[in-house]
Amino acid sequence: MATTYDAVEAVAPGTLRLVARPMPEPGAGQVRLRVEACGICHTDSLTIEGQWPGLRFPRVPGHEAVGRIDALGPAVAGWRIGQRVGVGFFGGACGHCEPCRRGDAINCQNLIISGITTDGGYAEVMLAEARALASVPDDLSAADAAPLLCAGVTTYNALRNASLRAGDLVAVQGVGGLGHLGIQFARRMGFRTVAIARGREKEQLATELGAHTYIDSEAEDAAATLQRLGGAKVILATAASSRSMGPLIPGLSSRGTLIVVGAAAEPIEVNPAHLIFGARAIAGTLTGTAIDEEDTLRFSVREQVRPIIETVPLERAGDAYARMMRNEARFRMVITIGQ
Ligand SMILES: [Zn+2]
Ligand SMILES: [Zn+2]
Repeated sequence: MATTYDAVEAVAPGTLRLVARPMPEPGAGQVRLRVEACGICHTDSLTIEGQWPGLRFPRVPGHEAVGRIDALGPAVAGWRIGQRVGVGFFGGACGHCEPCRRGDAINCQNLIISGITTDGGYAEVMLAEARALASVPDDLSAADAAPLLCAGVTTYNALRNASLRAGDLVAVQGVGGLGHLGIQFARRMGFRTVAIARGREKEQLATELGAHTYIDSEAEDAAATLQRLGGAKVILATAASSRSMGPLIPGLSSRGTLIVVGAAAEPIEVNPAHLIFGARAIAGTLTGTAIDEEDTLRFSVREQVRPIIETVPLERAGDAYARMMRNEARFRMVITIGQ
């Protein structure tokens, strides 16, 4: 068996390099994966640009990894060698902090985060906590499953955990990495689905993905159009543009919620009257746990939700990351290894 494996690690802010590392053995409660695919996500910039507080270099980024288990550490139950699994942003919860004790593992105060607090999936081999594994259905390719472990579960969970009923109006702002999945989930969950983006370029795609209605936010006042349609019970804000979120709030129905999943550094400007009249809310949601990821993958197989991806080999991870950061990815870049 090989004694080393290739990995792409961040060594300094903005610098990735391909290295050979010694083959690791899984510790107690861990498994070792042969990575088949790993998605490249905007959140990887927290690692690669060194923005995560306390981040230590070198660090292998990647929190959308799919692979096969090739070694089990001591005290691992319920997983077997050869099994296909995924590891998302959720790398394991501590089990003893207050949110954990209240059953809210994703908000664990000591969360293990793949590619941030521990090495991630830009590599041929990765160690993962068994408690962070999602089983990957056979019907899903590794490359398709990878983005579903992050952009997928984020939008899927945001919608299924909102107080929505079948037929409610759901608007998805942004037709990009998150939004193109959000539209598919919203439609297949039975909501009246509206896509909002700038210009008409994405209209046809949004319709093909399942949007019943398309709003060009450059040509029309999106909030006014949503009100004409009856008001959105939920607006899923996926574009990393805070400036475009505030003006959408008057497009919510009474007791509607703007759910923020697209993260930009700037604050969101809100007119308080738009919150008070109609008892509207703004909420955030953070991805999901391993079982949420598994639910997302199963739903996606059953309902034929798939990400639109471009694949690259491991040695081109740096170029692919740069393209994604320049907003040139259509829509998710995925590293594939030995596929
Ligand atoms: Zn991600
Ligand atoms: Zn915890």
